[in-house]
Amino acid sequence: MAKEYLCKACRGVLNGKTSIVLAAQNMKTAKRGLVYLNPELGDYTTTTHPTFSIEEGEEYLYTCPICHSRLNSGKYDHLVRIIMVDDNKKEFDIYFSDIAGEKCTFKISGSKLEVQGPDANRYNKYFDLPEEDRKYL
Ligand SMILES: [Zn+2]
Repeated sequence: MAKEYLCKACRGVLNGKTSIVLAAQNMKTAKRGLVYLNPELGDYTTTTHPTFSIEEGEEYLYTCPICHSRLNSGKYDHLVRIIMVDDNKKEFDIYFSDIAGEKCTFKISGSKLEVQGPDANRYNKYFDLPEEDRKYL
C-alpha cells in the first residue's frame, strides 16, 4: 500500500494516485480554488486550474475538501497540518507552510522530527527538540 494523506479532522483520504487535493483560499483576495500538491515530501510542485493561480509570497487558508475543516495549524502560525500514513501504517503529522513559495516540511511522530526544505529554519523554533534528535534530509 502506498502512502496516504488524511485530514486531521475527519480522517478522510486527501490524496488520489498522483496528488494531494486541498481547497485553498487566498487570505488577501479571498479567491478560492483547489490545489494539487505532490505527495512526495520535499517536492514542492503544486498544480491548480488556470482560473486559480497561487501567488508567491501570499498566505493561503487550506481546508479539507471533504469536511471543510480548516487545516492551518491553530498552534503554529503559518503552518498547515495534515496526517500521513506510511506503508507500515505508521502515522506522522506533516506540517508545511501556508505561504506560497515557501519550501519546508516537518514530519513528526512522537519525539522524532524530520525537517526538509530551505525555508525550514523559519519555523524550527516551533519544534523545540534537541539538535541531535533532528534528522535533516
Ligand atoms: Zn476533513
